[in-house]
Amino acid sequence: MSQNGEQKSLIMIFGATGDLANRKLFPSLYRLFRKGLLSDRFAVIGVARRPLTNEQFQENVKKSVVEAGENAGGIAEFASHFYYHSHDVTDSASYAALKGMAKELDNHYGLGGNRIFYLAMAPEFFGPIALHLKSDGLTDVQGFKRLVIEKPFGHDLESAIELNEQIRTAFSEDEVYRIDHYLGKQMVQNIEVIRFANALFEPLWNNRYISNIQVTSSETLGVEERGRYYETSGALRDMVQNHMLQMVALLAMEPPIKLTTDEIRSEKIRVFRSLRTIEGEEVSNYFVRGQYGAGTLDGKEVPSYRDEPNVDKNSNTETYVAGKLMIDNQRWAGVPFYIRTGKRLGAKSTKIIVQFKDVPMNLYYQPNKPLNPNLLVIHIQPEEGITLHLNAKKAGQGMDATEVKLSFANNAINEMNTPEAYELLLYDCMRGDATNFAHWDEVALSWSFVDKISDAWESTKDESFPNYEPGSRGPAAADELLSKDGFFWWRVRDLKVERC
Ligand code: NAP
Repeated sequence: MSQNGEQKSLIMIFGATGDLANRKLFPSLYRLFRKGLLSDRFAVIGVARRPLTNEQFQENVKKSVVEAGENAGGIAEFASHFYYHSHDVTDSASYAALKGMAKELDNHYGLGGNRIFYLAMAPEFFGPIALHLKSDGLTDVQGFKRLVIEKPFGHDLESAIELNEQIRTAFSEDEVYRIDHYLGKQMVQNIEVIRFANALFEPLWNNRYISNIQVTSSETLGVEERGRYYETSGALRDMVQNHMLQMVALLAMEPPIKLTTDEIRSEKIRVFRSLRTIEGEEVSNYFVRGQYGAGTLDGKEVPSYRDEPNVDKNSNTETYVAGKLMIDNQRWAGVPFYIRTGKRLGAKSTKIIVQFKDVPMNLYYQPNKPLNPNLLVIHIQPEEGITLHLNAKKAGQGMDATEVKLSFANNAINEMNTPEAYELLLYDCMRGDATNFAHWDEVALSWSFVDKISDAWESTKDESFPNYEPGSRGPAAADELLSKDGFFWWRVRDLKVERC
């Protein structure tokens, strides 16, 4: 890295004509370039099968930047750093040409042999590409070599171990950057700061003062074009194994002794190790699955999951999961962490709600006007911010209490658009900071937790599917999961919370 923070490296993007590269990676690199964080000393080789000239590829890059709404100053200069190599990653013969091209660009731009290999491709190619990079000498470099790998990292623990063994033949653990783009979101990164930088929260962050924590990530979209992949995945593997469990780990971890990658990761790993194992018949007491039927959403007719393209007409795949996680350690014993995620729900939104316990004998409690407990809401997307719900005196006569809200909106304060997750993660990778990427131990522990639930679900067909309507808040059983513990999901709308 140069002294002013600019990075020099050769970035090879495998899958450079795909959706992720065009929608996320090129615009994110452009934003880094505009901020002066890439300098002139970077080059990108795009790899995919279809034949393209460098000029055609550069036009695609420019188009994707403009489509992402960027103002596009300096775009020609930016795009001139992009080169294209038409290559089938299963064809051993063409890695030699890729190696030659990489060497040439390394010399031309003075990149010091630093290489980032970004695998933005279907997961079955991850292992074979990593093996080729080693056997064909692309990883024999003077500088650093790093592998960025998209989700899904395996399909279950067994396949994740196999993939990990393949990539570890070419890269050491600290050279592997497993993307979980939720870890690049501003408000997910903020969880640690909110917790560990505030005397107001940290002393209360335990089972003495918190009654339950709710993590919701909902989408209005259905599976769209991803039916083939989703049939083998479902919401549990697609969302819970990675994003939902990562958010729970950040909420539950002990304060690290230092803000270093190793210390933070090791505290997260301890949370995964403390997760109560749920298996066999127990699964139905802790987890609820759902699948959307046909209906209307925002005034439009939408098909049921089973009628989506490339989906089995009798599919048993879940498009919704709600679960209760218990973390069996001193801090969290007895506090449920409820999670829920699904497609075709009423809102696109990711939020965390921390519900504090009621004060003993609340003097302001009236049976016909119940007071809300204190709630801390962390808005992750689309809004970014925090709302703290307190009770205060109602203005006017009398001494009635009413709810008041203290709100902080991230983008209003920073007076700028918050950076896209991929922008932060790409920059972290260039700087060699792996804190916001998943360590192998986190991946392995989360698969071993999730595998037991999928084993139970795969052995029994859910006869109630489809069991929720588009635009709803999911199956009724998800409400019962909380009501049997005396709780309910909080619904947040326009920063207001209501009991569901
Ligand atoms: P995609 O649109 O299907 O793109 C796949 C890319 O791989 C294309 O560039 C394709 O180009 C190339 N390709 C396919 N077979 C190839 C081969 N044998 N040799 C060389 N190139 C080949 O996929 P995507 O949506 O970008 O997703 C890529 C990865 O990111 C997946 O692992 C996905 O799970 C993950 N991901 C994507 C998103 C997203 O928003 N899209 C979000 C999170 C994670 P050619 O056809 O020209 O070869």
